[in-house]
Amino acid sequence: MHEYSIVSALVERAESEARAHHARRIDRLHVRIGALSGVDPQLLMTAFTLFQSGALLRDTELVLRKVEASWKCGACGAPIARGSVLRCPRCASPARLTEGDEIVLDRIEMEVSDV
Ligand SMILES: [Zn+2]
Repeated sequence: MHEYSIVSALVERAESEARAHHARRIDRLHVRIGALSGVDPQLLMTAFTLFQSGALLRDTELVLRKVEASWKCGACGAPIARGSVLRCPRCASPARLTEGDEIVLDRIEMEVSDV
């Protein structure tokens, strides 16, 4: 399962961040998912529950934010509207994807003990 390995990598990063900050638990994980990333958010949620065994992740909420694909001109950088022809309106160069195919761990909210 594709989603399982993605969550595994996200969890690994979150846990090492949490340890580095001596966190007691992770409250929330904010993850950005590009519309073209090929990831099913529902499957990602399900996969995440499989990792919620340790104290750090037991009560963690996984917050997913979907990002639509956006394009711009590969040559002159002009923005290209979604749903239009993927060619620059100014110079007719092919469009380049600027976001929408990524899976990014945006933010980690954690509870840090006061020692
Ligand atoms: Zn252009």
